[in-house]
Amino acid sequence: MTRSEHIRALLEEYARQRAQDEQDQQARVARACAARPEIAALREESAGLALSAMRSILSGQTREERQAVADHMKVRGREINARIRALLLEAGLPEDELALRYRCDRCRDTGYVGEAPARFCDCFEARLRARLYEDGTMAGTDRENFAAFDESRIPEEDGQRALLLAARRMCEAYADGFPETRSPNLLLSGAGGLGKTFLLNCVYERVTSRGFSAVRITAFRLFEAMRRQHFGDGAEGESFDDLLKVPLLLIDDLGTEPMMRNITVEYLFTLLNERTAARRHTVICTNLSPAALQERYGERVSSRLLDRNLCQAAQLKGKDLRRL
Ligand SMILES: [Zn+2]
Repeated sequence: MTRSEHIRALLEEYARQRAQDEQDQQARVARACAARPEIAALREESAGLALSAMRSILSGQTREERQAVADHMKVRGREINARIRALLLEAGLPEDELALRYRCDRCRDTGYVGEAPARFCDCFEARLRARLYEDGTMAGTDRENFAAFDESRIPEEDGQRALLLAARRMCEAYADGFPETRSPNLLLSGAGGLGKTFLLNCVYERVTSRGFSAVRITAFRLFEAMRRQHFGDGAEGESFDDLLKVPLLLIDDLGTEPMMRNITVEYLFTLLNERTAARRHTVICTNLSPAALQERYGERVSSRLLDRNLCQAAQLKGKDLRRL
């Protein structure tokens, strides 16, 4: 499949996801109305309010009359919403039970963010990359390895080359020493296009060619595995259990996965904690700075990622190598 075919297929997947979001919402509404029939009546009244406001605009009423209808709609609308929230809470449901819920709040499952020109959301980019990996379009083990590392392409200014070479030495020593490494984990951070994923692929290639088993996964797919584990559905893709147990796990693009309450942070913590306790190895790439990691994942997760005894770290800086 070409890149544009992957994009088209992925956009279709997003459209299906949005349809699913709506179906899920309707199912929640139906359940809530069954539990508290008053909710159904209130929702009907609310729809009726909007309709009468529309009618008053079309029927050529005076300005004052229209204003009165609008005011009534506002006040009554607020009362209805408050009453619905109270009924939901009474039924033991969250206040936002009837709202649409998205897998990605940033793009609302459209795959796009921003006004024209819109660009692909990070979640979309991450999934696209995962698809390209799997189908071998993007160099994985074949082209990205330590032997293919070409330092002549890397600018010397601002220490960019020196930083990347130091990171490369760290990664190569780690991959050659595995599983007897200085620390169980590696953290590669820095903006996009500085060579982090390349180094991650190099480690993967070296370790697997030495006969060890390793799994390379984007943070997005990792999140999918967490979600499946949490809801106990779907057999497609990696199981969370396998990810806990594989001797070397390489996570690409940490920080691009959706943030879902009770899932993202909790399962990431479990993953890191259990892997560390079992003396298993983990390599992580992220665009997030240490401060941003802390802010996104909180103390328990970030302390594990930033602990020097558990994790050797390299922070890359400089120009985007893809754009040189
Ligand atoms: Zn998104």
